Amino acid sequence: MCGIIAYIGKHRAAPIIVEGLKRLEYRGYDSAGLAAQQNGRLVVIKKAGRVDRLAQEEAEHPLSATSGIGHTRWATHGAVTDANAHPHLSSDGKFALIHNGVIENYAQMKTFLLGKGFTFKSETDTEVLCNLIAYHYAKEDAAAGPSVRFLESVRKTLRHVEGTYGIAALCVEAPNEIVAARKASPLILGVGEAEYLIASDASALVGRTQNVVYLKDGEIVHLTPKAFTITTLDQADVSPVMDRITWSVADAELGTYEHFMEKEIFEQPLALENSMRGRFSEDGSTAQFGGLNLTAGDFAQVDRFMFCACGSAWHACLVAEHLIERFARLPVEVDYASEFRYRNSPLGRSTLFFVMSQSGETIDTLAALREAKRKGYRVLAINNSVGSTIARESDGGIFQHVGPEIGVASTKAFTSQLMIGAMVALYVARMRDMSFADGVQYVNALKGAPDLVRRVLAQAPHIRDIARRYAASSDFLFLGRLSLFPIALEGALKLKEISYIHAEGYPAAEMKHGPIALISEKCPSVVLAPKGELFNKIVSSIQELKARKGPIIAVTTEGSEIPAGLADAVISIPDCHEAVLPIVAAIPVQLLSYYIAVERGCDVDKPRNLAKSVTVE
Ligand code: GLU
Repeated sequence: MCGIIAYIGKHRAAPIIVEGLKRLEYRGYDSAGLAAQQNGRLVVIKKAGRVDRLAQEEAEHPLSATSGIGHTRWATHGAVTDANAHPHLSSDGKFALIHNGVIENYAQMKTFLLGKGFTFKSETDTEVLCNLIAYHYAKEDAAAGPSVRFLESVRKTLRHVEGTYGIAALCVEAPNEIVAARKASPLILGVGEAEYLIASDASALVGRTQNVVYLKDGEIVHLTPKAFTITTLDQADVSPVMDRITWSVADAELGTYEHFMEKEIFEQPLALENSMRGRFSEDGSTAQFGGLNLTAGDFAQVDRFMFCACGSAWHACLVAEHLIERFARLPVEVDYASEFRYRNSPLGRSTLFFVMSQSGETIDTLAALREAKRKGYRVLAINNSVGSTIARESDGGIFQHVGPEIGVASTKAFTSQLMIGAMVALYVARMRDMSFADGVQYVNALKGAPDLVRRVLAQAPHIRDIARRYAASSDFLFLGRLSLFPIALEGALKLKEISYIHAEGYPAAEMKHGPIALISEKCPSVVLAPKGELFNKIVSSIQELKARKGPIIAVTTEGSEIPAGLADAVISIPDCHEAVLPIVAAIPVQLLSYYIAVERGCDVDKPRNLAKSVTVE
């Protein structure tokens, strides 16, 4: 949530910052702003609304500075207004600050600063932080020089802060310098050709450099155009570890697609191939993972799995639960990371703990990971972001390798999580009772998944037609059973997120215990009805809905017969292995939600009130 970018180098900073903000906009889009030094004072341009408005304003009043900071906001403290937009200036005009996170003790600090004569123009916690830097700066020994005073005043301020932050600051008396720091909010240093950048994530950097240093909690970076130093809050020096981003700028661009969500839906066959690459044993009967840091012996001791995640990743964990219990015959519990962190649930000693987060920065998932580690558990992470905090703090894990996901509504990251969950189930099952032959069949089924997904994607025009017919509805039910119940939840979530239609996901047979009361001609049901032992039961559920005049959109496997006249629309998916079915069934619900949102004229990639990568609690 919230995007941060800072630039220092030889080029004009403002256009580079605006470009970076456009790439970070998916992290928050309540307002956008930038600050740079001009004619001996700090100038701030900021506006509620999208980055385009800021770009226009900057083009009309260009800033010549070769360093500066910029921000896209996802508001936590204070409404979406120009005044609450970042950057904030200290009341003496000496500091400009951008911030991602929440300062929990801001109210006490604000009272303190008001008593010292500081004034405030916004309702944000960030402005308090900015004024606190100015307060400490004034107390620093002037003989130390502005550069040292700037760094030390930020350090002192951060020692008083409770909460989370990724920040970058400018100081009018240290004109060509930037100080940035982080605690629990992501921050990356980009090291370019005679220039440095600071950003919340790699997508803002790849246009200029692929060499990065992933900053850690409690680290402060001090930048000049020629050098950088990293120290800790306790003033210890840190030796930077240089990493390389493996994807390129084209991966973070729209290309010929209208929306990132559309692009990412259609990228899924490739994303699934990337998630599987190099991860099957030579004999083709099981999965293998390089980064688990667990021996087969360690795994054999495990008698229970715990998964923690949020949002779509939580749905992917529910599918993993089904597959691990079904194929490996081991109990699995799945919890919302936001609940687990406060629940103090008893875990057996032989529980293996997994967290799942596309960004690797989801704050609740990170907190769940830390809580499990504090209790002495090994925690493995499934995530898509090498260098992310969750990747760094886990004891091992599995990277998704699907490239950047920009659309706020997860698609390719979700199906890749389904794929990895299916591979974990196979891995554990093959260590237990699954035969070689069943393992080979399972592996071949997973390898065939990308082609099956391509076949469903080829039906996009048909699904778009269905979407047009039902786009005006105000409620939807999504129904599924067993491993497709989480896909029903995911379908409902997607539709809510991007088209603002009320939708509920339910196990198909549970629907009569409540949601059936919603059914009328105006409330369609998307029923996931694959061939299999429960097919006839699901058809009975459809009958019950139809008897109450509810329109039915049935997603069913090729060759299974929904009785004539029962479904108002049918989407066929290929018949496939149980481990692949959730992946294949996810595609129609994604496309349906996408086309409904487009039909309703919604801003698909930037749905209201949401932001990608939830880094505040
Ligand atoms: N707490 C700050 C605000 O509300 C920053 C929020 C964010 O991370 O975008 O402005």
